Amino acid sequence: MDCIFCKIANGEIPTDFVYQDEDVAVFRDVDPQAPTHLLVIPKRHIASSADVTDPSVWSVLVGCAVEVARKLGLEKDGYRMVINTGTQGGQTVPHLHLHLLSGRNLGWPPG
Ligand code: 5GP
Ligand code: ZN
Repeated sequence: MDCIFCKIANGEIPTDFVYQDEDVAVFRDVDPQAPTHLLVIPKRHIASSADVTDPSVWSVLVGCAVEVARKLGLEKDGYRMVINTGTQGGQTVPHLHLHLLSGRNLGWPPG
C-alpha cells in the first residue's frame, strides 16, 4: 500500500522519532502549525478514526500523546489534540493520526 505514514512507521522513510514503541510512532509535522506540532500515529494502518474497531486504539493513541506532552513539558502552558476525519473534517493523509499542537495561543473555533 502506498501510504506515507506507513512508510514513516516502518522506517522506509527515515524519520527522527520523538517517541516510538511497537504500537505507535510520534514525529514532527512537516508543515508545523505551532511551535510544537507532532503527529501521533498507530503503526498499523487504519485509514481514519471512522475505521477504528478496537477501542484500545484510542487509549494507546491518546495516552501516548498525553505522555509525550508531559515529557516535553507542554502541559504547563497547555496544548491541543486534534484528529481530523474525512473530507469536511480536513483529513488529508488517509492514515489515522492525532495532531499534538502547543507553544502558542490556538484560536477557537477552528476555521
Ligand atoms: P491532516 O490534514 O490529514 O489532519 O494532517 C496531515 C498532516 O500530515 C499535515 O499537517 C501535513 O503537514 C502532515 N504531513 C503530510 N505529509 C507528511 C510527511 O511526509 N511527513 C510529515 N512529517 N508530515 C507530513
Ligand atoms: Zn498507512
